Amino acid sequence: MAALAAFALKLFIAACGLAVVVFLVVQPTDKYDASTVPDSLALSDLEGRSVLQMVLTWGTVLAATLATLLLRRMSATGAAPAPRKAAQVKRALAWQLPPRAFFASWCGGLSLGEALLVLAWLALNGWWLGMLLQRNLGTALDSLGWQERVGKAGLSFGQLLAPNLALLFMPVPHTSLFPWLTGLSRNQLIRYHRWMGHGTMWILTAHAVLYYVYWATSKTAGGFWDNFSLWRDKSGVSNLAGSLAFFCGLALWGSALTWVRRHFYTVFFRTHIICFTGFFLLSCAHYSGCWIYFAPGLLLYAADLALRAGQLGNATTVTAATVEEHAAVATIQMKADKALALRPLQEVWLMVPSISRFQWHPFTVAGGSADGVLTLHVKRYGPFTKELLNGLRRRRPTTVRVAGPIGCETTADCQLLPSASWERQEVLVLFGGGVGVTALLSMLRAMAERRAAGETAGLPRRVYFVWAARALGEFKSLDAPLLDVAAQGGWLQLRLHHTVGQSTRSLDVAPLAPAMTARFSFVERSQQLSGDTEVGSARGSQSSPASKEVQLTKSDLGLERSSADGSTSSGSEGLSTARGPVGMPPRRRAVHPHREAGVSPYFWSLLRPLQPKSFGAVHLAAVYLLTYLGAFCAALLAASYASQNVQQWQAGMLYCGLLTAMALGLPFGLAVFPVHAARYVRAAAAARRGGPESQPELVAPFQDNVDEPLLLDRGTLRLRGSGAALPVQAGRPDFEGLLREVNEESPPSCGTIGVYVGGPKGLNTAVQLAVSSLNGRRGVADTYYELHREAVEL
Ligand SMILES: Cc1cc2nc3c(=O)[nH]c(=O)nc-3n(C[C@H](O)[C@H](O)[C@H](O)COP(=O)(O)OP(=O)(O)OC[C@H]3O[C@@H](n4cnc5c(N)ncnc54)[C@H](O)[C@@H]3O)c2cc1C
Repeated sequence: MAALAAFALKLFIAACGLAVVVFLVVQPTDKYDASTVPDSLALSDLEGRSVLQMVLTWGTVLAATLATLLLRRMSATGAAPAPRKAAQVKRALAWQLPPRAFFASWCGGLSLGEALLVLAWLALNGWWLGMLLQRNLGTALDSLGWQERVGKAGLSFGQLLAPNLALLFMPVPHTSLFPWLTGLSRNQLIRYHRWMGHGTMWILTAHAVLYYVYWATSKTAGGFWDNFSLWRDKSGVSNLAGSLAFFCGLALWGSALTWVRRHFYTVFFRTHIICFTGFFLLSCAHYSGCWIYFAPGLLLYAADLALRAGQLGNATTVTAATVEEHAAVATIQMKADKALALRPLQEVWLMVPSISRFQWHPFTVAGGSADGVLTLHVKRYGPFTKELLNGLRRRRPTTVRVAGPIGCETTADCQLLPSASWERQEVLVLFGGGVGVTALLSMLRAMAERRAAGETAGLPRRVYFVWAARALGEFKSLDAPLLDVAAQGGWLQLRLHHTVGQSTRSLDVAPLAPAMTARFSFVERSQQLSGDTEVGSARGSQSSPASKEVQLTKSDLGLERSSADGSTSSGSEGLSTARGPVGMPPRRRAVHPHREAGVSPYFWSLLRPLQPKSFGAVHLAAVYLLTYLGAFCAALLAASYASQNVQQWQAGMLYCGLLTAMALGLPFGLAVFPVHAARYVRAAAAARRGGPESQPELVAPFQDNVDEPLLLDRGTLRLRGSGAALPVQAGRPDFEGLLREVNEESPPSCGTIGVYVGGPKGLNTAVQLAVSSLNGRRGVADTYYELHREAVEL
């Protein structure tokens, strides 16, 4: 019965998708124009044509979204494996086209499926353009001069923008039916958005340039400057607004180019927001009918923003942190609501008000414990991460706002993604490097935790983890239990590579100086100020410059450590104890003020555990319904204003403003803010009563596995106090050789080997090329290598 219902839902979603595509295909043809749409469809002042268009694009997208929610809710217990035929088609579509090295460096690789999509996009646009040219040039072709033909071609390119704008924003939202349905990662969807963005900008450029040529050359057009500066022409179209929208588009396009994005991320980010707003508003002022094409994708994004806005009002604080100086990596922990189902491969967005109120940075969830502790690894790169790490080293209590998690829109009772892809694999190979290793470590931790709890069903039988690091200290973010498992030759095989090129002998300096590693937790300010705790818990015995920076005292930190047997200790410590676990301060003194002035946009200053973005499938469905309802009401209102004989640019701007305000305002006001407010009030009451919810900022001691010290000794990574040790090899791994080796060691029944790569571009490309070379080579055993790229750059 459930299978039948799921099948019916899938059919329904496919029908919705087909309706959108058919409409977009037919829309530019003369089969669809005002005369063919019955007037009876008109609703108040909204024309029948607009109503039909809203039903066929907005309505279908909303219906498909709700159906997807239901489908995901039904299959929360885990997705069934794909049928053999479907798997074969998927593999064929994932085949990477040659020349692979060129495509990998140019656009991150091109699979057969992607090439077919690009061809389909080109074919559709070619067909639309043909239709539009036929319509605009019509029978008068022979009587038109070349300048007029150029003008008509410019008009046709302008009309061609409509279906492209309708598709452009679909992949952008974090929370939408596309990642849920396709299983594509956000990075992959953003990549397609970028490709469509390039296409749309070429069309926009053709539209503008052809008009400029027409104005400049045609005697009948009335001169370039007169046309260019015209705010309103005979038909009501605003040329100047159109040109300004075009310039906004150019700025968007230029700042989104990979080089600019990577080197000046802030410039890219701000330009994207400001110029997109200008582009949207001015496009609607140029031609008032634009709003209806922007809306389908943007409404999905509006639901996303409304959900995120609710979460942004929550402030929390870093409860524990370590800073690993050699590798310039910090491990930070925060308290999260238990309803927030934290999983491997999710990302969260972090904002630190003391650094900047405008910058949000993504980080991969490195660990999420069942009792709600979120762990992140942050590597020092540029200004933001540098300042964050410096603040942590100086033990500055760090208040943060966190949005997410993204990548699996869940709360504990609502699983909206199929079970993670790695859960389907019998054999996994993970290649990690730099900070990209975080995602892979979080997968390994999840597997280890489940195995430790006696669970083996759905877990890979064998996992190979190949870790390439430039700094030996990076290996220290490895958890001791993982090293232990690997050293015992269990389900996990670990290979460590030091890639800087020196032999590991020359790096036999380990163990790391204790003062190089600062580990501390923040406790309540009252305790810090009281100074009644003893001094010197983690004070390093060395006087290197680094050690000076991280000398920690209990009086200024409010920090106590517990020894292995759980008793607390204090006083000046040497190497072996400087990294001991941080203990909980005595409960009776844990009266945190809970308040941090000015950290919240809604003047909410209560520090509390991170809250979920949405509160279950029904809540999400309500947010989507209200977003579309808000947009629909806005369209009705704006249409009634537009019918009062106002100018086109005024009507366009009103559509634009009302749609934005109501599509964001209605879901936020009715479904998002109230649930966050209710939780806030509950947390505030608990804080007054002094209940458990009132102490999110209490010291969260590191889990034992994080605390257990690893040391690097003569080219070997050792687990202190145990015989467990692994050699660190010098130089880069041989990716292809390794994958072959894994294939030879795998059982013959293993048809697919999951390959995950998380690391810098060079590592990603090398693994991608190795995988596509093996998959594309005939004669290599039947095994298929299924590649998943966990990118850490947008
Ligand atoms: C999905 C994802 C997951 C990530 N996970 C981690 C992680 O677990 N640990 C970690 O240390 N780093 C992670 N990163 C990278 C991290 O976001 C950047 O290192 C950080 O934002 C750099 O900011 P900065 O000002 O210190 O450096 P900058 O010098 O300003 O930037 C360095 C690079 O980081 C990227 N970047 C900068 N700001 C942003 C931003 N707001 N959003 C997206 N990218 C940005 C740009 O590509 C830029 O070239 C992740 C990135 C992504 C996209």
